[in-house]
Amino acid sequence: MFVDKVKISVRAGNGGNGAVAFHREKYVAQGGPDGGDGGTGGSIVLRVDDNMSTLMDFRYKRKYTAPNGLDGQGARCRGKNGEDLIIRVPRGTVVRDAETNEIIKDMSDSQDFILCKGGRGGWGNKHFATPTRQVPRFAKAGLPGEAHEVVLELKLLADVGLVGFPNVGKSTLLSVTSNARPKIANYHFTTLYPNLGVIYVEEGVSFIMADIPGIIEGAAEGLGLGHDFLRHIDRCRLLVHIVDVSGSEDRDPVEDFEKINQELAQYSPDLAARPMLVAANKVDLLPEGSDNLERLRQYVTERGYEFYEISAATHQGTRQLMQTVAARLRELPPVTVYEPEYVKPLAQAGEVEELQIQRYDDLWVISGGWMERLLADVNFDDYESRMYFDRQLRQCGLFDRLEAMGIQDGDTVSIYDLEFEYAK
Ligand code: GDP
Ligand code: MG
Repeated sequence: MFVDKVKISVRAGNGGNGAVAFHREKYVAQGGPDGGDGGTGGSIVLRVDDNMSTLMDFRYKRKYTAPNGLDGQGARCRGKNGEDLIIRVPRGTVVRDAETNEIIKDMSDSQDFILCKGGRGGWGNKHFATPTRQVPRFAKAGLPGEAHEVVLELKLLADVGLVGFPNVGKSTLLSVTSNARPKIANYHFTTLYPNLGVIYVEEGVSFIMADIPGIIEGAAEGLGLGHDFLRHIDRCRLLVHIVDVSGSEDRDPVEDFEKINQELAQYSPDLAARPMLVAANKVDLLPEGSDNLERLRQYVTERGYEFYEISAATHQGTRQLMQTVAARLRELPPVTVYEPEYVKPLAQAGEVEELQIQRYDDLWVISGGWMERLLADVNFDDYESRMYFDRQLRQCGLFDRLEAMGIQDGDTVSIYDLEFEYAK
């Protein structure tokens, strides 16, 4: 079975906890704090793998979790980082947020993409040693890794899409013009998954053509096989519409042509408006006295389409068609790469009462549920992000609560891996 759409859930590793430890050495009576930091959790990373052509691997495995960072140890030993979990996907996989369906990333280029970031490790108590501070018997917890439910959807990267009724000769055309060897047979729906072929026209000129399972009437409403597969030609720059003019199945070529166009329009008006060439196939089988070819020619040329006569079986006209396609492609914009739409909603401060505040002399350590998420989301290299965090802290009333507990100017506020000097 061909799998080209799956929902998976992914979770990055949590950061390891910091350690509480004290230096021990012979003849040293009271060693200082030397607990190391926790390691960073492993991230979930997506990588394009050109050996993959379906999302089959995801059919049975739907949950992916990257390892946590290890806890810090004594003697200033930092916990080991969790290793990134690399998830391989075929080129052209579009990643969407499962809830909103917004595009997170189009895996069309060869760059790795970090889908979920691992949590930062917590600080060990070695960070909290100062000349004035007493023995710091505490360390920080690591931050949680990001988690996400996403939908992976394969949208092949092809320049040209072949469309037409089943059995009209799409696979045959692909097989005689490219390196692809799709299944060909004289019955409907031989093609059960999309085929891609590279067509070399001449030195330095080539393009990719896709043959998708047949589109039939009602496919756009999900009645036939074709509906799901139409997404594979979404990105195509040019469509080649193949029509069987031999009348071999007692069908009318003009009607066929119109039906397929209607299917395309129902699925996506954008796809229906894509540049299209029309190729009448099986001209070698044209019965004596049939006006199929001429009627179709007149019908489509009146509507402004370029029209070609071919026989995929005897290779008549196929080379010329491919040359024309290559020439047309040169004038068309490149294959669409989808822009990301999804913006991660920022975590928000909750009730200040939920937070734990511990005091160690001039050091105020804040921790608790929503603070973890809020802090995991802050990017301290980014001004906007820092300002957002600052506003959240002020609005939730944290500073009022600290004031009431007696915090002084110049004391240190410590929140996970963030530390700052308190100033009113
Ligand atoms: P698809 O369903 O559109 O992919 O059609 P196929 O490529 O599988 O072809 C369906 C049948 O038509 C096969 O038996 C082919 O051998 C035959 N066929 C395809 N093109 C031609 C042609 O130009 N002439 C003749 N005589 N038969 C053809
Ligand atoms: Mg086929």
